[in-house]
Amino acid sequence: MLSELCTRCGLCCSGSLFTFLPVTAEEADRVRPLGVRLEPRRDGRTAMLLPCAVLQGTRCGAYGARPARCREYVCQLGRAVEKGERPFEHALTIVSEVKEQLEALAELLGPPEPGDARSVVQRAQQTEAREPDDARFKTIRQAARSLDAMLQHYFVGPS
Ligand code: SF4
Ligand code: SF4
Repeated sequence: MLSELCTRCGLCCSGSLFTFLPVTAEEADRVRPLGVRLEPRRDGRTAMLLPCAVLQGTRCGAYGARPARCREYVCQLGRAVEKGERPFEHALTIVSEVKEQLEALAELLGPPEPGDARSVVQRAQQTEAREPDDARFKTIRQAARSLDAMLQHYFVGPS
């Protein structure tokens, strides 16, 4: 059930929930040739930047080589499905609703600049008002907040 949900979701790889995930040096060496974006962190570790470059739609394009964090991570929604606390179909509906909100936000933002690898969520969070009463900025912020509330509630959970 979980793997079926994940192959129809992919949100944790797409930069919608997180902007990076730490990887070991060995994992970095393994995924670097695949074109995955990597960055050194201040703590000396290496981070794989999200959206992940090997994500193909909602599926991992490097399944056999994916880092341990990718193999081990299960979001709150996935855990609820695994434990039987949330019906699979309801989880799918939540994923669809999130994707609808993401599409609406993407439309508000307009197409990314060439070479801009940020996710829709990242672009929305980093959008700045062009003037004090920027209506477009306010609409984007409102849509981003509503989406973030949904992501936190269903996927990330209380910290
Ligand atoms: S966000 Fe959750 S349901 Fe979606 S792919 Fe990741 S673990 Fe699976
Ligand atoms: S390597 Fe695969 S599982 Fe890991 S973030 Fe990239 S697409 Fe997702």
